[in-house]
Amino acid sequence: MLQGFGRLFNRHRTVFLSTMAAASRASSSRCASSMPPFKGKVELHVHLDGAMRPETLFDVATKRGLQLPASDAVALRKYCCYHEEDEHSLKRFLDSFDFFLPLIQGDLQAVERIAYEFCEDQAKSNILYSEPRFCPHLLATSVVWDHYVKRRYISEGQRIVDEQRPVVTPSDVVDAVCRGFDTGMADTGVMVRSILCCMTHRPDLSMEIVQLAEKFKDRGVVGIDLAGMEGAVPMDEHKPAFERARELSIHRTVHAGEIGVAKNVETAIETLHAERIGHGYAVVDNTRVYDFVKQQGTHLEACIYSSHLTGALKTFNIDHHPVKRWCDDRVNCSLSTDDPGVMQCTLEEEYVRGREQEGLTHEDEVRMVFNAARSCFLPSEEKKNLLCKLRDVHGEEPK
Ligand SMILES: [Zn+2]
Repeated sequence: MLQGFGRLFNRHRTVFLSTMAAASRASSSRCASSMPPFKGKVELHVHLDGAMRPETLFDVATKRGLQLPASDAVALRKYCCYHEEDEHSLKRFLDSFDFFLPLIQGDLQAVERIAYEFCEDQAKSNILYSEPRFCPHLLATSVVWDHYVKRRYISEGQRIVDEQRPVVTPSDVVDAVCRGFDTGMADTGVMVRSILCCMTHRPDLSMEIVQLAEKFKDRGVVGIDLAGMEGAVPMDEHKPAFERARELSIHRTVHAGEIGVAKNVETAIETLHAERIGHGYAVVDNTRVYDFVKQQGTHLEACIYSSHLTGALKTFNIDHHPVKRWCDDRVNCSLSTDDPGVMQCTLEEEYVRGREQEGLTHEDEVRMVFNAARSCFLPSEEKKNLLCKLRDVHGEEPK
């Protein structure tokens, strides 16, 4: 494995050097506000495998004896996080996962720890309820490390021997995440439920994701997602898995219309039975699909800073994030961070950004929090309780 890491780190070395120089400037792009924190939030679109603390990555890598191109956590932060100065593209953004996922892969203690720390970070960001998502295969023992789209993962049922450490299966990963969340929820008071991600380029693993979601239903797994490079393979190839999920009453969200066309959003809703859409910005480019989404009441999970860093909005030739238009049109939407660890952002900052850069009003913010709660994947009784908690914090929902 170490040999593989060496190759990987060499590939990233040029990025590292330019990133080091850019990092001090990057911090100036962070959003700050003198307003008091916006309490009582709900976050629906956040990747656990993009929410790791650089300090934890450094600690885990050091304990595992992995060679790092950074001598401490501060240097590692500059290396493994995405920066304002980096090329703004989804492909480039996804490439950054190539660096840090191998540090954690196959280490159940580390996986449990990042789940626990996720709860701590959500609590600090005044979040009441969250639905973190992750792909279990990305955190299990990796069989072959190669370019992102060529990567192969160990699959349930396979027992491939790794000379460095015991094999950790995707099921082991979900179990470890659930343990971390259980302890994290008990210690912080934050409530979390999990979503398991199918990967766009690996439809062959999607049915396995559904089986894992079913297996861990009683441990807090509430849904599945389709994540990764939009359009890597036709969405239809995931249809059998998403149909099966619907039969099993496993909830469904799909990344669509992030950098792809509006039609992808329609396909996600009609073919994959998506109840929520990750991003969905493309709908502003197509009146018919926009009207369809409004009429369906499909929830759009908006991530302002993420779409800026991935250059998603450039795809549609729009200067401003569509979230304000969605709020004005009473589209069912909410705000999320997407990947707070990689992007070094918080949900608190996302709301500040929405207010100061996109013109969101306090009513918009409160309405979005209620939208998120109504569109979350909790069973109805628990959802009612969450809505009650929100009323305690925010009062009645604005009309
Ligand atoms: Zn996402």
